[in-house]
Amino acid sequence: GYISTRRDIGYSSRGVGRVPVGIGSRRLRIVVTGGAGFVGSHLVDKLIGRGNEVIVIDNFFTGRKENLVHLFGNSRFELIRHDVVESILLEVDQIYHLACPASPVHYKYNPVKTIISFCLLCFNHSYLTNVMGTLNMLGLAKRIGARFLLTSTSEVYGDPLEHPQKETYWGNVNPIGERSCYDEGKRTAETLTMDYHRGAGVEVRIARIFNTYGPRMCLDDGRVVSNFVAQAIRKQPLTVYGDGKQTRSFQYVSDLVNGLVALMDGEHVGPFNLGNPGEFTMLELAQVVKETIDSSATIEYKPNTADDPHMRKPDISKAKELLNWEPKVPLREGLPLMINDFRSRILNEDEGRGM
Ligand code: NAD
Ligand code: UDP
Repeated sequence: GYISTRRDIGYSSRGVGRVPVGIGSRRLRIVVTGGAGFVGSHLVDKLIGRGNEVIVIDNFFTGRKENLVHLFGNSRFELIRHDVVESILLEVDQIYHLACPASPVHYKYNPVKTIISFCLLCFNHSYLTNVMGTLNMLGLAKRIGARFLLTSTSEVYGDPLEHPQKETYWGNVNPIGERSCYDEGKRTAETLTMDYHRGAGVEVRIARIFNTYGPRMCLDDGRVVSNFVAQAIRKQPLTVYGDGKQTRSFQYVSDLVNGLVALMDGEHVGPFNLGNPGEFTMLELAQVVKETIDSSATIEYKPNTADDPHMRKPDISKAKELLNWEPKVPLREGLPLMINDFRSRILNEDEGRGM
């Protein structure tokens, strides 16, 4: 049968606001799957910073040890190399489940058969991780009575017919399209999460994350902000796909991390949209990147990918009202904050190649 998991969490009065640090005299112990990745590593920094014990599970598919190296030697931090497709047993209070291969977008660049078949593997891995990985982590949450947070995505709305998107919108996803493995994988993960909540009483939280950027993003995973910033630094043309009139809303990573923590520690299951409502066309984004990094940067148009959502902008009234959360960093302030990190990594790569 199901054992109630409600416990009294201790709150410290240190710092700003009420910060959960532990249960009774014990520190709060938290797992972050995918914690060596872009978002995960920033989340880990925040949790360690407020006094929690953090265990990262990552298979380094797209994550990097460098993102966490500053925490090695910290007695409240542990890193486990593990694939969440396999089960694992740990004793923790909260599970942030972020593990998921970053959009396997390589096919956008290399429509070569070998590359496509490699990427089909990525796609399958994406689906497997989303389904098996989420099942395993939900099973763990149920077994040990931990609270579970799923990082879902705005991609569950597909190419939306409602704008901006509210959490009540069911989405417009092509089930047989090229990006459906990611979209449907996350939709299934949401279903599993709610099934474990309703059927087994697991305490769950669901975040639907909109496009997020910041330091430590993968340099070459093909997302638009990392592409444009890296291209501007490398003095290459900014690649705009299609006519560049499609829109996205870009959120700085620290805003997202604050939202994830507010959601986990709050009383509401969700789903909650976590994103910045500032909406930009890709041409406008290219313009901001030019203004921020290199005004002489040029634009090169490339064909767009199939099923690319025409527009995306979160309606965040639910998170504002129930989590008391809203993003603080506009694009023009956030972009400069990732440039030094990108510059030094690109420089290191060039030195590694003997350039
Ligand atoms: P990321 O690729 O930087 O991080 C994902 C991490 O998961 C990596 O460290 C990777 O090695 C790890 N991982 C992948 N498969 C794994 C497996 N089977 N077992 C263990 N670890 C595994 O991506 P991110 O941008 O930090 O994304 C984090 C989460 O947020 C993901 O779930 C993603 O779907 C979601 N999300 C991100 C964005 C965004 O704009 N960054 C938008 C929507 C949703
Ligand atoms: N995009 C672009 N140039 C690039 C990479 C992406 O114009 O170099 C476009 C892409 O077609 C899409 C938008 O930017 O319309 C966002 O793409 P991304 O892969 O970053 O995120 P997602 O499509 O998942 O929102």
